[in-house]
Amino acid sequence: MNYYDQKEATYACPACGWTGRGDACEMGDGFDWGYEILCARCQQKLGYIGYPTTEEMLSDPRASDGDREQARSRIAREAEFERKMLKDPDQLPVIEPAPASLAWDFEEAEDGKRYVVIRHEAREVWRELAWYEDCERYAAVAEILQRKYGDGLRDLVPTPASKDYLYGDRIASLRRVEEVRSALGRGAYARGA
Ligand SMILES: [Zn+2]
Repeated sequence: MNYYDQKEATYACPACGWTGRGDACEMGDGFDWGYEILCARCQQKLGYIGYPTTEEMLSDPRASDGDREQARSRIAREAEFERKMLKDPDQLPVIEPAPASLAWDFEEAEDGKRYVVIRHEAREVWRELAWYEDCERYAAVAEILQRKYGDGLRDLVPTPASKDYLYGDRIASLRRVEEVRSALGRGAYARGA
């Protein structure tokens, strides 16, 4: 069942006997993939509804205009990211002497777009669209930075402004970032290392 099927499906509450459609249930806790649904009468947990995929939002006739708009903007954003993302050390500027440490910063532009900004002291070294809780992107960028600047680069320090967006709600993100910082410290991503 996709998201729209789940919203139209009938749920029965084992605690109080209420029955109703998924979209008549109360929303419980939310997750990045969906949310909990609760009995509309007694708040008993009845299950989960997963958010629609981009494909479902575009193709399902039950999708609202808002869903379709959201899907189109997600696709545009992914395309823009793909076009401008850091892929190769050659895209980065030469810094002499090579930096020992860089900052992973976060900026929200006036148009609402959110960016990761890599800085060396006051200088902006790189900028690309930011993704929420994307510590795998942090890892990928760290690796490219060390391939460019060598094993003299020992750290990529998340600034206070970047932390909420980078870690989100997940302890696992924090651990992943610490793991990458420790690999950087060992020079693990340097060319030929
Ligand atoms: Zn109930």
